Amino acid sequence: MIEVNHLTKRYRGGTAVDDLTFTVEPGRVTGFLGPNGAGKSTTIRMVLGLDRPTAGSALIGGRQYAEFKRPLTAVGALLEASDLHPGRSARDHLLWLAASNGLGRKRVQEVLEETGLSEAAGKRVRAFSLGMRQRLGIAAALLGDPGVLILDEPVNGLDPEGVIWVRNLAKRLAGEGRTVLVSSHLMAEMALTASHLVVIGRGRLLADLPTEEFVSAH
Ligand code: ADP
Ligand code: ADP
Repeated sequence: MIEVNHLTKRYRGGTAVDDLTFTVEPGRVTGFLGPNGAGKSTTIRMVLGLDRPTAGSALIGGRQYAEFKRPLTAVGALLEASDLHPGRSARDHLLWLAASNGLGRKRVQEVLEETGLSEAAGKRVRAFSLGMRQRLGIAAALLGDPGVLILDEPVNGLDPEGVIWVRNLAKRLAGEGRTVLVSSHLMAEMALTASHLVVIGRGRLLADLPTEEFVSAH
């Protein structure tokens, strides 16, 4: 479970996240919906300990992200600005991540297969399309077989087949009892992916409700 409690992030120029409170429950896909600039990425970065809140807190399973001794096996995340090294292959990225988290090579092969990257695994990331980068980012997120998965705009750059793949992946992982948070600015996509929605605008909570209630009200 993810607990966001009065989370706030102010910059000199304004407020990106404004007193947000919501929880992300296990066993279902929660869609984090809002237009570009609404504060989704900033919220996710604070959940992951990458940005420091101005106020409030974000806990994963009752702990701050920084408290996890093996974070990759607790929480998998796809971020919007990933730091992929362009000169390294997809496989090298995953092997490096696996090694630095005490995971074996076998798991790397598994996530390459799961994300459809087996054939492209030896190619340098420089030669990857945005869709393939997204798949690699998702492979990295899955590497530790985490109980909590956070995907920030995962369908950006994916082809239609990839969009459906991400949708089914999120649902399957949630069906296994994991906690799954998927952000998007696309209402139609979230309606098909998520059973619960957390909707934000200008950093503020607008709605927190089952997807069907949101859809029937709009
Ligand atoms: P979303 O992910 O929903 O598109 P973001 O979290 O990226 O939204 O951004 C929310 C708001 O915070 C935007 O207005 C953005 O310009 C602002 N913002 C994000 N990062 C910074 C930063 N480092 N400095 C100043 N403003 C920022
Ligand atoms: P350079 O980027 O100049 O080749 P390094 O190889 O030392 O320098 O890598 C710089 C940083 O990038 C390292 O400190 C490490 O955190 C990260 N890094 C190195 N190899 C990988 C990899 N295969 N995948 C992801 N990150 C990596």
